[in-house]
Amino acid sequence: MDLAANYRQITESIRRAADEAQRDPATVQLVAVTKTVPLDALREAYDLGLRHFGESKWQEAEPKIAALPADITWHFIGKLQSNKARKVAEAFQVIHTLETESQLKEIAKASRPIDGLIEINIAKEIQKSGIFPETLDDFVQSVLYCKNVRLCGLMTVGPVEVDPERMRGYYKELRGLLAHVPTGSWLSMGMSHDFGVAIQEGATHIRVGTALFGSRS
Ligand SMILES: *Cc1c(COP(=O)(O)O)cnc(C)c1O
Repeated sequence: MDLAANYRQITESIRRAADEAQRDPATVQLVAVTKTVPLDALREAYDLGLRHFGESKWQEAEPKIAALPADITWHFIGKLQSNKARKVAEAFQVIHTLETESQLKEIAKASRPIDGLIEINIAKEIQKSGIFPETLDDFVQSVLYCKNVRLCGLMTVGPVEVDPERMRGYYKELRGLLAHVPTGSWLSMGMSHDFGVAIQEGATHIRVGTALFGSRS
């Protein structure tokens, strides 16, 4: 794995996708997904200038956060169990996966506020995380009521599609749902194989693991 070369290539792809959409590439935040990636590779990423890291499990993230410099923005992107929600809120800067009232209840007990995104199950897949679009208005009210969450926008993972073009409709739909979020316009969407399409459709945060660090074993 050549992290520096991968990073250069991704930066170039971000620039190209932004150009096609007549967007400023600086409006797209690359979140390096570091789940299962060893600490040494995170240090290397840090030395290359990466400052936004995404983790999906509290147990795995906690020692990494403790070991690395304090100027990293940590994004929680995994399923957030409510019994971990308070700790996550106190250690991370952004939670991408708000979806239940019980998470909010625990986050409200944290010692500081955090940026939050509501996760949408955009294709209404069985056993996928996230809320259905129909329940968004009610859940937005709950999040706004939670004193420790600054509601910044929406996140989705979406179905596993080999052809990134098949994701375009879902990403358009997510962008449309932003009209229901009164306090922010972040769109966390797009992963290694489809972030170009996501950027064309308005992504402000792309979550990239494999394309940076190689495939997870
Ligand atoms: C693992 C993960 C990613 C990164 O996926 P890649 O295909 O490796 O880029 C992005 N988002 C979420 C929520 C993930 O769990």
